Parts: sequence; structure tokens; C-alpha cells
Amino acid sequence: MAPNEIYQYSLVNALMSGVSDSGITAAQLAEKGNQGLGTFVHMDGELLLLDGTVYQLQAEGKIRVASPTDQIPYAVSTHFEPQQTVTGAAARLESKEAIDAVLERHTHHAGNLFMAYRVDGQFRRLKCRTVQGQEYEGQPLAELGKKQFVAEYSDVEGTIVGFRSPQAWQGFFVAGEHMHFIDKDRNVGGHVLELEADHVRIGIATINNIHIQLPTSDQFNAAVMSTDDVGLKSVEG
Ligand SMILES: [Zn+2]
Repeated sequence: MAPNEIYQYSLVNALMSGVSDSGITAAQLAEKGNQGLGTFVHMDGELLLLDGTVYQLQAEGKIRVASPTDQIPYAVSTHFEPQQTVTGAAARLESKEAIDAVLERHTHHAGNLFMAYRVDGQFRRLKCRTVQGQEYEGQPLAELGKKQFVAEYSDVEGTIVGFRSPQAWQGFFVAGEHMHFIDKDRNVGGHVLELEADHVRIGIATINNIHIQLPTSDQFNAAVMSTDDVGLKSVEG
């Protein structure tokens, strides 16, 4: 994989259908990029790949470095090389959606392209969730979204790894913004629901080259997949 190309394993629609019994290993994912996000087998927590290390983010205070053999049923990653870095007042984020305006200022020509970004610094407020794992084989992600661990943090230092995907790719990727956070001390983190930040540094890259590897498992083969835009926005928004 060259810099700023996306490698993705499986499809978000497969996760929505509960396909999460197997996947690539954490060691294999780490070869595909230096930053990324995803989940683990049976959707046991959120995955964050940062500087080549794969983290499993479970409930508060439960963060571990993944073992190289841990299996990953869904992940998206890139060898991130920022094309531009935004700091100061231009990087102030009043909401999660505000990242869109920052990305737009970077380029007006990425409406139907992918973007990767990394946000480092001090966050005034963050609301994160972690999925708590399937209770039965094949439990859909939309159902898991109802019993997730949600926590709010204020004045926390850390890093967000994010991707922006075009609307037309909803269901293959998460359309729009998808971000995972980890704090500097590696104590808390998760899928970002809300954020506010005054002093951060935002690195940005535009991506037009995508590699998707599909599972060959029986579960993937048998899954009935369709794009549930409303369901996806409620669980991944
Ligand atoms: Zn997520």
C-alpha cells in the first residue's frame, strides 16, 4: 500500500448484518497502514490503529494493545501522510460536524473522494461510545447500538483518527465522518459521538485509491446485506 491509499477489510453492511465471527489478524492490519479504525471479533469494542499499534477500546479504563493474532472482522486503514496541517483558530472545532468545514477548506474537490485525518491536542469536551460485544452469533450492529457504553470527558488530551467517505459509499463505508479517539495516557477512548476542541492540530489527506478485501467465510457468504441508511446513521453517526 502506497501512502494515502485506503485498505478496508469487509463492508459496514456486513457488520450491520452481524458478520463478525472472523477476519484478518491485528498483525496483518498493521501492515496495511499506520492509522485506522474498526472493530474486533463479535464486535467486542472499538478498534483504533495509531502509529502502527492496534488498540482495543472497551468500556472506560479498559484499553489494551491487541495481540498480533486477534481477529478483526472490519477495519479501514491508511499509511497516513498529511498533505496539510491546520492549527490555531482555523482548527477550532465547535462540534463533530465542524471538521467538515476544515476539510472543505483543505480542498473543494473531495466531494466524491475519501479523506483521512488525524486530530491531536486538547479536547474541551468529548462524548465517546464503545460497543459491548454480541450476545449471540450474528447479532446485528444496529441492535448492539442500543446497549453501548457511552461516556463524556472534558479537558482531555489525545488523538482522533478519522475518515470521511462520500455519501454514495454508505453501507460499504460509513458515509460522512467516522472517528475513533484515544487519550494520551491510553485510559479512555471509543467511537466519537460529539466533540469540542480549541487547541488541536489537524492533519489532512485526500484519498482516491481504495483497496477492499472481502471475507470468504460462510457467515459472509450467507449474509443478506442491504444499506440501511437510517440504521447506520443511528449507530455509526
Ligand atoms: Zn466507529
